[in-house]
Order: sequence, then C-alpha cells, then structure tokens
Amino acid sequence: MKIQMLPSTIDENGRASVRQHLLSIVIDDRVAIDAGCLAFSCTDHQRDEIRDIILTHTHLDHIAGLPLFIDDLFATLTEPVRIHATREMIDILERDVFNWSIYPRFSELANDNGAVVEYREFARGSSFEVKHLSVQSVGVNHKVSANGYIVSDGKVSVAITGDTAETDEIWEKCNGVSNLKAILAECAFPDEMDDLANVSDHLTPRRLRHELEKLNDRDVPVFIINLKPMYREKVIGQITDLDLPNVDILEIGKVYEF
Ligand SMILES: [Zn+2]
Repeated sequence: MKIQMLPSTIDENGRASVRQHLLSIVIDDRVAIDAGCLAFSCTDHQRDEIRDIILTHTHLDHIAGLPLFIDDLFATLTEPVRIHATREMIDILERDVFNWSIYPRFSELANDNGAVVEYREFARGSSFEVKHLSVQSVGVNHKVSANGYIVSDGKVSVAITGDTAETDEIWEKCNGVSNLKAILAECAFPDEMDDLANVSDHLTPRRLRHELEKLNDRDVPVFIINLKPMYREKVIGQITDLDLPNVDILEIGKVYEF
C-alpha cells in the first residue's frame, strides 16, 4: 500500500515544504483521506485517478481543497466524485460549504455525463469498501464528529487517527489487526500549550506518549502527522526527547510503501 501526505506549503525556492496547514493523504494514487490540499498539490495522475474521498471530519484544514477539486474536474468527470462521510459531516458540508454562498451546491448539479458529486454515507464505527480498500471507521475524540480509519488492501493495514484528543477505541482496534504495518497519529501542539490542546481536542507529545501506551505491539511504526506548522520544530524536539520506540515524524510528500 502506497501512502503519501500531500504538501500544502512552499519554501522560498518554490518547492514543497514541511509546514502543514492542510491535510490530505493519498492511498495508492486512487483514494484520498481528507481533501485539505487535494486540489492544490496532487499530481496530474492523482487528479485523474482519485474519485473517492474519505473524510475524517469537516474542519477547514481537512476539506479546504474539496470544493476546488470538484470545481476543477467539473466539466470532465465521467463519474461523480464520491465523498465518503457520516450523515453529520454531509449535513455540515451541504449547510456550510456547498450552500451557494461559499460555493455551489454540486450535489444538485450535473455535467453532460451525469452527477458530479455523490455522497456515500456510512455510520460511525462501520466498515465499508472503497475501491480496492476495506475501511474500518472508528469514532475518535475531537471538537466535531470525527473518525479515524484502519485501511486494508487485503495484504496490509494502516491506521490513521485523524484529529483527536485522548481516545481508546482506535488503539483497541489497532491491537486487533494482525497485519498492521503503520499508524499515522496526530500530535498538534507542544507540551507547554497543553491548555489549548485540551480545549481543541488535540494531542501534545506527553499526551501522545500516554496514548501509545495503549498499543500492545510497540514494533508497529508510528508516524506523527498534524503538527501545527508554527510549533512544528518544538513538537518534533519534544517527541525526540521522549525517545519513544518506533516513532517518527511523517515526511511530507514522501511516498511510503507498506
Ligand atoms: Zn480538526
């Protein structure tokens, strides 16, 4: 399974940089988890291939590129872009984003080939198929209804926590997956911003360490995602100081093969 976190910023030379404002993870160039920067930084090949987007939640940094991705493809789509989301997320998207004020309600529009958007609703905690992947959704602990996912291609599985504070179920589920090859876990704020992490339902390095103790198998590689760009170096320093086994910072833009 190929996993790539798309970049969302550029450096002074115009090249992709590691500051991560927006999140979008592409699996096997065909399925996206979140669409924060999907319209801005996917390759042409990915743009041609991706018609399935699974949302962790509706915060802007995870959906900012979604309207623009659909807009970009509008005239050329031969099948709809399928948005996999819970009822709650779909209602928020229709009310607050695709509401004709922020952007057109694509679910009511069509091109010459038919619908351009299709919502694929699933219940929180359920499992469903997306292309070649089996996806287990797991409710996590965030300010809005949010999910983590355990994604399997039949050979290997990868877990993605999405945005979350302390939570149990996703770690319990990870403990039950025998072919789990990687966990992408969030850690947004440094330890000294514990109050903000607490009110915004995110993790700090200290909180992350506590979460990872819930894992039975500490040999599974853990890659840290969702570092707030302004505190990135601080968070990396604190995670490094904790000397946690098999924990690394996910490299932005790098294609990982599991
Ligand atoms: Zn969030």
